[in-house]
Amino acid sequence: MKKRRTGFGSLLLACVLFLLNGCGKQTSDSTEIRVTFFDVGKGDAILIETERHSVLIDSGYDDTSEIILDYLAERKIQRLDYMILTHFDKDHVGGADRILEAMDVACVFQPDYKSDSKQYLEFLETMKDKDMRAHLVVITERLNLDGVDFLIYPPQQSEYETEDNDFSLVISMTYGNRSFLFAGDCEEERLEELLSQAEFGLSHDVLKVPHHGRKEKNTLDFLYAVSPKIAVFTCPENMKLEEDIYVTLENLGTKIYLTGKGTINLSMTTNLILFTYGKSSEPLLNRLRIKENASDRIISCHCLDCSRKKYQIDKYLQNENHNFPSPFQSIFLS
Ligand SMILES: [Zn+2]
Repeated sequence: MKKRRTGFGSLLLACVLFLLNGCGKQTSDSTEIRVTFFDVGKGDAILIETERHSVLIDSGYDDTSEIILDYLAERKIQRLDYMILTHFDKDHVGGADRILEAMDVACVFQPDYKSDSKQYLEFLETMKDKDMRAHLVVITERLNLDGVDFLIYPPQQSEYETEDNDFSLVISMTYGNRSFLFAGDCEEERLEELLSQAEFGLSHDVLKVPHHGRKEKNTLDFLYAVSPKIAVFTCPENMKLEEDIYVTLENLGTKIYLTGKGTINLSMTTNLILFTYGKSSEPLLNRLRIKENASDRIISCHCLDCSRKKYQIDKYLQNENHNFPSPFQSIFLS
């Protein structure tokens, strides 16, 4: 089924001004950011916490919204600066209405197309109740939040052979030398667009694998172009990965993680990624804060309970075994 985008040209300038003046306050000197890939089954919900801002990419299903809200409460986050809905399938937009009802959301970004999915209509209804208007992404948007750069890429075409998936917004996030690519549910046509956009450097450290790991004709080309060090599949624990995808990532030396094995809670400075992964209900990283000083060769992890240094890592020893006790895992990215 083909879908058509709505017109939007006249609001473009207003939206650019809105972005400059409204949501994106500039700052720097952040020492640590956190990225949480929630376990919401075969669906996406990803929270990014910079020093002073919070961004949610997709909202999971209607009945998994409590997982996100509980975590936000635990982290004492009462306001989302941005909620970016990559597209309007129920596993991406399903929890949006409940999140909007439960907390303050400053800006909602969405692609510019129409959908009649039940969950999308519920989201629209809640937006209306709250007297909010989503920002439609029709040109590449740039945000800088506490030194973290976001590029939000809209679909380039007004029609696709597939339904909603190819309208996915694609988000590239860069922090120092580190980079993440969140690829929504892109299918073949949209992946081709990304592969052919010369200005869009596809190489990233961490990839949220498109469409829960479903293989398209050009998926392997895409994986080679991204060459991620870490690949996150938002899918159930028992989902069997496509053999070709698995082998390609193995060949690239990529570490593979599935949200179905537990929410992935990741804390990152410009060189170190420290994370917990598993079914534990307690986000153990909440007890640690990573500090990395550009002039120092040591990265230190401070215990927030007792404020003592717990672990130190020599930046120049670039192996991947830093003897963090279980359940922490660390990946040093040089
Ligand atoms: Zn999906």
